Amino acid sequence: MQEQLPSSISFYKVKTMSINTEIPKHCDVLVIGGGPAGSSVAALLAKKGVDVVLLEKASHPRPQVGESLIPHFWKYADQTGVSPLLEQEGFVAKAGGITVWNDTISRIAFSEFGFTRPALHVERDVFDQLLLKHAESLSVQVFQQVAVQEAELGSDFPKVSYLDRRGGDTHVGSIACRYVVDASGPSAVLAGQFKSKQLIDSRMRFLSLWGYFKNSRFVAADGRSYPAEDIGKVRPVTFVTSFEDGWIWHIAMRKLTSVGLVINTDRARAMDKEGRERFFLNTLKSAPYLDRLLKNAEYVDGSFCERPDYSYYSTKLCGENFYCIGDAASFVDPIYSHGVLNAFYNASMTALAVSESLKNPAYRARYAQLCENRIRQFYGFSRSLALGEFGGDGVDAKLVQRFMRQVPPVELELMLAASSMSERSENFHRLVRDAKLDLNPARAGAHLMDELLF
Ligand SMILES: Cc1cc2nc3c(=O)[nH]c(=O)nc-3n(C[C@H](O)[C@H](O)[C@H](O)COP(=O)(O)OP(=O)(O)OC[C@H]3O[C@@H](n4cnc5c(N)ncnc54)[C@H](O)[C@@H]3O)c2cc1C
Repeated sequence: MQEQLPSSISFYKVKTMSINTEIPKHCDVLVIGGGPAGSSVAALLAKKGVDVVLLEKASHPRPQVGESLIPHFWKYADQTGVSPLLEQEGFVAKAGGITVWNDTISRIAFSEFGFTRPALHVERDVFDQLLLKHAESLSVQVFQQVAVQEAELGSDFPKVSYLDRRGGDTHVGSIACRYVVDASGPSAVLAGQFKSKQLIDSRMRFLSLWGYFKNSRFVAADGRSYPAEDIGKVRPVTFVTSFEDGWIWHIAMRKLTSVGLVINTDRARAMDKEGRERFFLNTLKSAPYLDRLLKNAEYVDGSFCERPDYSYYSTKLCGENFYCIGDAASFVDPIYSHGVLNAFYNASMTALAVSESLKNPAYRARYAQLCENRIRQFYGFSRSLALGEFGGDGVDAKLVQRFMRQVPPVELELMLAASSMSERSENFHRLVRDAKLDLNPARAGAHLMDELLF
């Protein structure tokens, strides 16, 4: 089963970016991939005066799933300086989340946590292009339609080879650098090279099927449903409903609604692609409340996508001259919208480690180790939220608890409240309990509701 993405599903386009012609032969830092992780690490390093080249296989705007962002992502957007661009774009501000999990309806509203800036529902092709454009405006040299093939890391000046597909022809080239940052998402170029990618325990291995709808009703924080045309007037919530061993998301954006389901990989193995699309659409029709939200909605033909076997982590993340970040490092089930946040956090830690290593090369192994610990901490944090069990591999509970002690209490309270909305987070609750953190108990839970109103 291959991942399939439609050529573009967004109604919103930002101006096509300029195309640099010559790819340099040398740079300080070579970033692979221009998603949230790559664009952010490149922007942060460029702000510190580092000479950065970013190679991106696709041509932005490129389709991408993962449209729900939680409110603390803004602190990373502020760090790179991209916040004004995001604010001007006018993405949908969301009010919170509502889940129907095994017949229990729970609700959280971000306003109750005192966040002053909104969470967002974003068209990811537009969002990611803005991040990349911002990096370019900070003097990152961005080259699109250039796919990295491999990196030779054996010397102090790694050599990265690529296929340059600009202008219709394909040229082979290479660039020497001091550090390689792999932010190539699920392609995980370096983990592929290292053979360090591990799939986690099969009981927790999921695949996702999703598509886009026009004119869907949406749910707001008051538990009522509203017609699509109210999206600019009433803030939606991310609506999630459980079914059998999986769950379904409903994310209302400006013109389209992203709807997807997550199931255990084994469930769909025997189906072909058409069968999976049929299964996807039939499941939506029978899911509680979702059937009514989508009753008069129009499915965008050709928008069906899938991502198989997506729960993994790499056992080798940072070394003296390389860093693997974002989805190129690990991925867990996205139930708590942690993917983009993880990409931003990894980018922030890596920019610090790389810039310090450039200043003090004698300490670069130490910086790499510290950074790897941080990346693993965040991964463990996300995984304890998203999965009912750790499965014993890839997570160090003590590291996660150390991370919990550093997270601002309000962010932890929000995640505690969110985690009480599913039956996946017993590990998370146990870790918080054992870490004996000083949290506000009034905020660390979700509100229960009897029904949603249509
Ligand atoms: C079904 C699903 C739902 C999700 N929902 C959410 C959500 O609601 N909220 C959330 O926060 N996260 C969500 N996520 C996760 C989120 O989308 C990812 O975590 C996030 O995109 C990771 O960013 P990244 O920069 O690491 O990787 P990506 O966004 O994948 O970017 C990687 C980039 O690298 C480029 N690339 C790949 N190979 C090469 C190469 N060889 N050379 C050069 N460039 C290359 C790609 O073209 C791409 O642009 C979801 C994920 C899935 C699968």
